Amino acid sequence: MKVVQVSSAGGDFEVVERPIPVPGIGEVLIKVHACGVCRGDAVVKQGTFPGLTYPRVPGHEVVGTIAKVGQAVSPWTVGERVGIGWHGGHCLHCGPCRRGEFGACDTVLTTGLSTDGGYAEYMIGRSEALLLVPEELEPAKAAPLLCAGNATFGGLRNCGAQAGELVAIHGLGGLGHLALQYAHRMGFRTAVLSHSQEKALLARQLGADVFIDTANADPAAELQKLGGAKVIIGTAPDAKAIAGLVGGLARHGRLIMIAFTGEVLHIPANALLYGERSIAGAVGGANIEAAIAFSQFAHIEPMIETFPLERAAEAYDAMLTSRVRFRAVLTMDQ
Ligand SMILES: [Zn+2]
Ligand SMILES: [Zn+2]
Repeated sequence: MKVVQVSSAGGDFEVVERPIPVPGIGEVLIKVHACGVCRGDAVVKQGTFPGLTYPRVPGHEVVGTIAKVGQAVSPWTVGERVGIGWHGGHCLHCGPCRRGEFGACDTVLTTGLSTDGGYAEYMIGRSEALLLVPEELEPAKAAPLLCAGNATFGGLRNCGAQAGELVAIHGLGGLGHLALQYAHRMGFRTAVLSHSQEKALLARQLGADVFIDTANADPAAELQKLGGAKVIIGTAPDAKAIAGLVGGLARHGRLIMIAFTGEVLHIPANALLYGERSIAGAVGGANIEAAIAFSQFAHIEPMIETFPLERAAEAYDAMLTSRVRFRAVLTMDQ
């Protein structure tokens, strides 16, 4: 099989041939149809994930079909359409697992980081981490829902805003264009904060009630003119811009970070104190199948550009530099 691997921290993507792996106890072999390219994959390239070993195949937005099952995975069968996201497996035995908090497992596995991921024609998946993906969804359009869709849907579903309240989406890219559609269909009044005026029309088409051009207006002041945002979803990995948004929150408003960035947020403490505002983060958690189901019935699709597996490096660069509209997806079936 063909895989795309990284051989060392800071290394390039390499297309290599490997034998198709054999699933062990509790594992399945997945024939991968599509895998999204996510900013989270950068930690494989940069080597910033604790305990990362090389070579490693990245990719945690995987949609495929079960090709083989190992021992002790009886409920899953060959031919089922499945997906696997950031969460790659858990022990079912430690304290967090016994409380049902599998994402906090003491020996949690992360797809594409602690195990080889979906930049490959085949991959091994732990059966406890598998998700059912409806057959009628095109794999390339379903793949981004497993991380980008889950993070934005989960963040909004649990954000505490009520129907009709103002929810602002900062950034209209891979995460933001999904967050906007979800927020609109969940019944919030939506504002998009973007420095690209040319995205205003698209924002309206995807459900924005208000578009705020952050290059030409102070977003915090503009949000306050609307009464203040109950929630701001931070999807742009730009710490300086994010810090400038806190003043746009309503009383008890929350800024929820979804963008993946190691940058430091510099926020005056009293900006939180006034109005008892707060800042939180969200990764989506165990909402993936709910995100897929909501996307299906609400007719929400990611806007994608597909790349064949061999062009993973190009897809990754397009994602990192925000040239892709709006999510890059590798496809393996051509
Ligand atoms: Zn991701
Ligand atoms: Zn555990």
